[in-house]
Amino acid sequence: ADLSALITSGLRDVPDFPKEGVVFKDITPLLAEPASLRAVVEGIAGHYAQDSVDVVLGLEARGFILAAPVALELGAGFVPVRKAGKLPRETHRASYDLEYGSETVEMHADAVSSGSRVLIVDDVLATGGTGRAAVELVDKSGGTVVGFSVLVELGFLQGRSKLTDVEPHALAVI
Ligand code: IMP
Repeated sequence: ADLSALITSGLRDVPDFPKEGVVFKDITPLLAEPASLRAVVEGIAGHYAQDSVDVVLGLEARGFILAAPVALELGAGFVPVRKAGKLPRETHRASYDLEYGSETVEMHADAVSSGSRVLIVDDVLATGGTGRAAVELVDKSGGTVVGFSVLVELGFLQGRSKLTDVEPHALAVI
């Protein structure tokens, strides 16, 4: 079956979550279905199979769920990018603006070595702020971003325009 159709049919729209006016795409039904879970992990890993990925960066929290099995599939390591204040040792930090206020994400300063080839994985590409911040963290560590992959891209938010240098790969675009 077509992977994009499998994903769009497995997503659930949740109106007014986490706040009024937002239609949240819930990926949990996809993860719960064995064939879909395997298909999305293999879909992401397969796209980067020839790219000599050393490290897969997972973005908290739903990015973790996908990044770890993708890393296993690619024979790469896993590195978490977390919201500020969660990682115990010295970190690199990157901030980005939200509609109200800002968000800061962190990665351990020694997690990605200089010259490492890094794939960034998340569940949803929306405005692109989170992805942009992750790219900044890799840059600070001296790593090379070989790709940024998501299950779903919300095309109407044009997050891709913030990430032209990494050309995001999406298994499905809505
Ligand atoms: P961005 O920074 O605006 O691109 O938002 C992407 C981040 O917000 C990702 O880490 C997603 O997990 C989360 N996100 C935004 N919209 C949705 C959604 O509709 N469903 C699930 N996660 C979302």
